[in-house]
Amino acid sequence: MKFGTKAIHAGVHPDPSTGAIMTPIFQTSTYVQRSPGDNKGYEYSRTHNPTRTQLQDALAALDNGKHGLAFASGMAAIDCIVKLLQPGDEVISTNDLYGGSYRLFTKVYATYGIKFHFVPMHDMTAVEAAVTERTKLIWVETPTNPLLNVIDIAAASAVAKKAGALLVVDNTFSTPYLQTPLALGADMVMYSLTKYMAGHSDTVMGAVVVNDDQLHERLSFFQNACGGTPGPQDCFLVLRGLKTLHIRMQRHCENGRKVAEYLKSHPKVGKVYWPGFSDHPNHEVAAKQMNDFGGMISFVLKGDVKDDAIAVLEKFQLFSLAESLGGVESLSGHPATMTHASIPAEERRKAGLSDSLIRLSVGIEDAEDLIEDLKQAIG
Ligand SMILES: *Cc1c(COP(=O)(O)O)cnc(C)c1O
Repeated sequence: MKFGTKAIHAGVHPDPSTGAIMTPIFQTSTYVQRSPGDNKGYEYSRTHNPTRTQLQDALAALDNGKHGLAFASGMAAIDCIVKLLQPGDEVISTNDLYGGSYRLFTKVYATYGIKFHFVPMHDMTAVEAAVTERTKLIWVETPTNPLLNVIDIAAASAVAKKAGALLVVDNTFSTPYLQTPLALGADMVMYSLTKYMAGHSDTVMGAVVVNDDQLHERLSFFQNACGGTPGPQDCFLVLRGLKTLHIRMQRHCENGRKVAEYLKSHPKVGKVYWPGFSDHPNHEVAAKQMNDFGGMISFVLKGDVKDDAIAVLEKFQLFSLAESLGGVESLSGHPATMTHASIPAEERRKAGLSDSLIRLSVGIEDAEDLIEDLKQAIG
């Protein structure tokens, strides 16, 4: 089955009791048992809920994976994965990681005795150099946020296999429409469903997709034991969003290209970060592992002055200044003070994240209107 057909049909079935074509919102905490232990597969909604089951099956199908697990947020999904580790274990991740992941790793799990190494992962020799006999997890996010570096998933998988470590890919920016990391050797794919997957800026949720049965068993144990599970209404909203994922992503990519090219030609704009440019340092890797290049773009103004960037952000009419990304509407952000404020200034500078950097999540409006907005804001 092709991607668009799967986005609409995979994992979901008409409701057997009524024929309802859309998955009902099973707003229930518990399920009646005929006799102790004699139930219909559902006992308590933290453990299982039919709306969540259909979403988890749909998510697994989109990534060509075997098992999906849904969580109350992307962070709850990440938290569940890190719980696979023990004190003394080591993790290698990228140095321009999503700020919330960085905060969870360094402020929570580092205090439990897990060691994190942050390296520029688009350079695989830096990853190899950080491997020790205690490396248990390699955490890839690609393209990275906000510098849009592209990390070679197949190469990271080879390093992980040699090290005997598990490979996780945070696929939030790409979605399975653009890349399917399990096919490239990842053990786990992780999502903030809040972004492109749900796609309408109306819910916060996360997910993990895996192939391995044992890994699934351990993760579902933590999912239930620790309890970061989503409610059925949110699962319904994500299921609804997934049905247009392919159409939305197609337009995000088309608009992304037009906006990136406009910015690149603008006399007041300095560097533009977008993996679709043939002179992007990781363009070849992007072209190899992605089906298209997405709608996330970052740029700096010539002169690299923070106040100039803030003036542009204040002038935007359509690119609303807000946290988050991946919704139908275009958003703008200032990573240094918003999404990446939890990363120390020195670390940010080391990763090349300037205080004047502007990040755009290009929505699915008409590209002409988006370019008009950029024109009036940049001047
Ligand atoms: C938003 C985001 C997260 C965290 O997800 P939440 O749903 O906000 O908890 C993790 N990774 C990336 C790349 C994100 O953009």
